[in-house]
Amino acid sequence: MSSDPRSTDVLSHIDGEWISGRETRPNVNPADTREVIGVSAHLGRAEAVAAIEAAHRALPAWRETPAPKRGAILFEAVRLMKERAELLAMAMTREEGKTLTESRGEVLKSIICLEYMAGEGRRPIGQVVPSEMSRTMAYHVRQPLGVVSIITPWNFPVAIPTWKIAPALVAGNTVVFKPASVTPLTGRLVAECFIDAGLPKGVLNFVTGGGGTVGDELVGNPLVRGVSFTGSNEIGMALARQATETRKKCQCEMGGKNPMVILADADVDLAVDATLQGAFGSTGQRCTATSRVIVDRSVYAEVVERLAAGAKAIKVGNGLDPTVKMGPSVDRGQHQTVLEYIAVAHADGARLVAGGGVPKGPEYEHGFFTEATVFADAHMGMRITQEEVFGPILAVVPVDGFDAAIEAANGVRYGLSASVYTRDLVLAQRFIDAIEVGIVHVNNPTVGGEAQMPFGGMKDTGVGQREMGTFGVDFFSETKAVYLDYTAAARRTNIY
Ligand code: NAP
Repeated sequence: MSSDPRSTDVLSHIDGEWISGRETRPNVNPADTREVIGVSAHLGRAEAVAAIEAAHRALPAWRETPAPKRGAILFEAVRLMKERAELLAMAMTREEGKTLTESRGEVLKSIICLEYMAGEGRRPIGQVVPSEMSRTMAYHVRQPLGVVSIITPWNFPVAIPTWKIAPALVAGNTVVFKPASVTPLTGRLVAECFIDAGLPKGVLNFVTGGGGTVGDELVGNPLVRGVSFTGSNEIGMALARQATETRKKCQCEMGGKNPMVILADADVDLAVDATLQGAFGSTGQRCTATSRVIVDRSVYAEVVERLAAGAKAIKVGNGLDPTVKMGPSVDRGQHQTVLEYIAVAHADGARLVAGGGVPKGPEYEHGFFTEATVFADAHMGMRITQEEVFGPILAVVPVDGFDAAIEAANGVRYGLSASVYTRDLVLAQRFIDAIEVGIVHVNNPTVGGEAQMPFGGMKDTGVGQREMGTFGVDFFSETKAVYLDYTAAARRTNIY
């Protein structure tokens, strides 16, 4: 049986078969909870084990498949993803809530990542280096890890699975992929692009179900050799401990509290535009979202006024409406969190200058909407400047000069992305040197990343190797060092 890409119900895929499981869960549109998009299979631990065992059986043949041939299957997945782009984008907007323009952008980014990784099938897998011994080849070579688990969040439900599954497959691993429970449909559509491209059965298994059961098995099962996770710190840190105890290679990309720094000489127009884009794009539900803007006091009043005006102009609503610029929170729990942080910011003494509540009107009654919200006069002792909100709330922090800006920017536990607006090359370079993040932008929003560049964070944001680019493939590989005496006769004399 094959799953129909146009269907909105979600089956799981184990050992080449689409299966429904014993239980299902309704999948609801966060912009209008009266709309049930479809139902999703909700598997248990036994099915997760079956998926891992299927991946284990498929491993020997897949790792023997020449890498260019693995890459060719991924190129076919690129073609299918391009063909199904609108289907993916529509599903994402209905299921996750981001605007259709944002969903289309995410699908395009996914296609680019997939195309890059497909090309990895023909690029070097090691390096020959000079040996200290004569007539000896010394080289190192990449080999697959084995069965790997891929566990993803809901906020980039197409891009993140794509940029994890593609390098895992091209490097010769077999995969069990679990999407977030609130975005099973987009997860299925992504898996289907790979499966329909011609992967042999068992090479990619797709399992929907709870994190505490299916997810837990994907981390603890001894047949799994690597775990790539993106999500919250709470889950990610526990998962990293579990993976380490069972000696698995592990990569966790977690929370962020990303600063935009606007220095005295910045182009304020550009800086304000970039801040609004970073803070309210995807409803602030991006790991690289701008949640703090640190502003030199000489331009502070002007920046606050413009940010407030810009936030008030953002039309909130159902992302399928082309005039809407910001969709809902993904679900009731996330919406509650956002509203609680608004109350916390008031209690901590920040000054509300835009938004601050649920928009009024019949079109908002059945969705998880919040106005684009800006709090001014924040400082680094407040919870809204320290904790990840994952919603449309921006805190504006005034500072005096470059050193104070760096201190504020670095004064959090996270270290994913940061940006500085300045026309001074010296200050830009000092910022690049001093800022404690994995991704630095100069005169750009804090959001975004390119397929050929490493992606990930420092401090509490990241555990393990970076994603994307050649780094992405490295994570899904073991490295083997080889010393080959091609005479098969020489005695080794130079042992230190
Ligand atoms: P989450 O609650 O941590 O869930 C992430 C994934 O882990 C989901 O598939 C979830 O399944 C699964 N999971 C839950 N409990 C598990 C367990 N015990 N064992 C194994 N898997 C388990 O995160 P989220 O709310 O989906 O995503 C938002 C977070 O992701 C934010 O903190 C954001 O910053 C972060 N994020 C980081 C990056 C980055 O690159 N740094 C990128 C995007 C998002 P269920 O859905 O079934 O619970």
